[in-house]
Amino acid sequence: MGILENKVAIVTGGASGIGKSVAEIYAKEGAKVIVSDIDIERGEQVVADILSNGGIASFFKADTSTAEENKALVDEAIKLYGKLDIACNNAGIGGLAAETGNYTLEAWKQVIDINFNGVFYGCKYQLEAMEKNGSGSIINMASIHGLVAAPMSSAYTSSKHGIVGLTKNIGAEYGPKNIRCNAVGPGYIKTPLLDNNLSKEQLEFLVTKHPIGRLGEPEEVAEFVLFLSSDKASFMTGGYYVVDGGYTAV
Ligand code: NAD
Repeated sequence: MGILENKVAIVTGGASGIGKSVAEIYAKEGAKVIVSDIDIERGEQVVADILSNGGIASFFKADTSTAEENKALVDEAIKLYGKLDIACNNAGIGGLAAETGNYTLEAWKQVIDINFNGVFYGCKYQLEAMEKNGSGSIINMASIHGLVAAPMSSAYTSSKHGIVGLTKNIGAEYGPKNIRCNAVGPGYIKTPLLDNNLSKEQLEFLVTKHPIGRLGEPEEVAEFVLFLSSDKASFMTGGYYVVDGGYTAV
């Protein structure tokens, strides 16, 4: 028996990187997983891989920057399985690299809409469904930049700090309702998000910022997300936990 047997889970941004690993480990532990993303092809491939490994999963396209599509994603879980137990709000982008004074309004809005407003919209509808269910666990994907600065990425840093605040509030409000909400702060993890935004030299420099001497793997984040999502973390809510190879310790 997996530790998520009989649970129904949503993962946003599940087509790639950390979200893909989370979807895979949820399914491996017995959850029925709805993989959501704007990238249909890669999302459907993640589902096909889960199914071929004996797991239960389906794909649902949703752009998390809109309230409507977050609601539609929750509705899909209810339609398919009658309830929602777990949600990992993971979809996110890096956004423009520029000093704050040069950050364009358009680029700022795009990052905040996807990384921060998207997580609020997700939580709003997930909480509604979980209240009906009488329990639930939400994991919001923040970053070490929910704690420390990322120079040239003010929108990203602000969005991730916002997620930490939102998560604390939900923890405080929904503890009595048996719904837990926690945020995870990965250090730099080897995913397409890094490869698409950073040069080889930047990646080499970033390795030196992690005392463990390397960048992280998506699976190393997914293992902790799994723990927080499961009943094993039954006394944890409103928290923000780094998985960062020591980045924020120095
Ligand atoms: P990734 O680019 O590999 O995956 C992100 C996924 O989100 C992609 O499949 C993309 O299509 C999807 N996505 C983007 N915009 C979307 C939208 N509007 N609606 C739905 N899906 C959307 O990135 P990743 O590195 O796996 O990042 C996942 C999360 O982890 C992000 O929130 C990111 O900020 C966070 N994070 C990543 C790192 C890292 O070093 N990789 C570090 C800390 C935090």
